[in-house]
Amino acid sequence: MCGFMYLPYLRIRIPAPRDRRFILSEGGSRMDNFEALWAYQTEDIKADAIANAIRRSPVRQKLEKTRDLILDRQKQYKQIEVEITAMADRKDIISQAVEHSEAQLRTLKERFDANPPDTAEDVKALMAEVSHCRDTIRQYEAEIARIVKESSAHEKQQHIVRMDAANAKKAFDQLKTEYEAESQSKKTELDEQRAKAKALAATVDPALLDEYNTIKKHISPPIARLTHGQCSGCNTSLPSAVVSKIKNGGLVECETCGRMIIQ
Ligand SMILES: [Zn+2]
Repeated sequence: MCGFMYLPYLRIRIPAPRDRRFILSEGGSRMDNFEALWAYQTEDIKADAIANAIRRSPVRQKLEKTRDLILDRQKQYKQIEVEITAMADRKDIISQAVEHSEAQLRTLKERFDANPPDTAEDVKALMAEVSHCRDTIRQYEAEIARIVKESSAHEKQQHIVRMDAANAKKAFDQLKTEYEAESQSKKTELDEQRAKAKALAATVDPALLDEYNTIKKHISPPIARLTHGQCSGCNTSLPSAVVSKIKNGGLVECETCGRMIIQ
């Protein structure tokens, strides 16, 4: 057995560390080591399944969804607030313009009273000015009415959004309590399972365990059995030379899925 091993997921050959070599030496203890590793994997994968169940818990998913809803409503609320403020500013500006036009109208009336026009042309010009002023005021007032209506609709919408957020917050708090209780019992279960796996890890050769952990970063479970001449991890048929190497207790990693294959 050479001091190199092929790691398919890295596509490189790296020298096997010296301490790893002993597992490649004696057939019997090598097989025992593989079996110990297999037993460890069984418990380790069970622990991972519990950890995944905690992460994928429906209560947790609902909790995350509710949190997103609250954040969304808060954003919406602020957006409406900005729009309402802009409308109020616009209303103020238009109100000032109305006052200005009304002042203009008063000036025209005073001018008329103090100095009535003599000619028909002057009367016509004055009337045109008055009419223009009144039209402007009417347009401004229509604009103000539109803003008031829109502003009130926005306020109603803002109220709905606030109620929505408040309800979501209530649901969130309830779900949080539920999730905490659920995850507490699951965490105890996980701790127990991790302890079980850890006890078995102590029976495995450390170098082999390192290899297991390295492979696990890429694929899980990291060990597969040899089944009918195939890697049971990915069902790839193995060349007979590889099959006999496995049967002789050699350290083989599947060239397709990267798992360690044992008999
Ligand atoms: Zn495979």
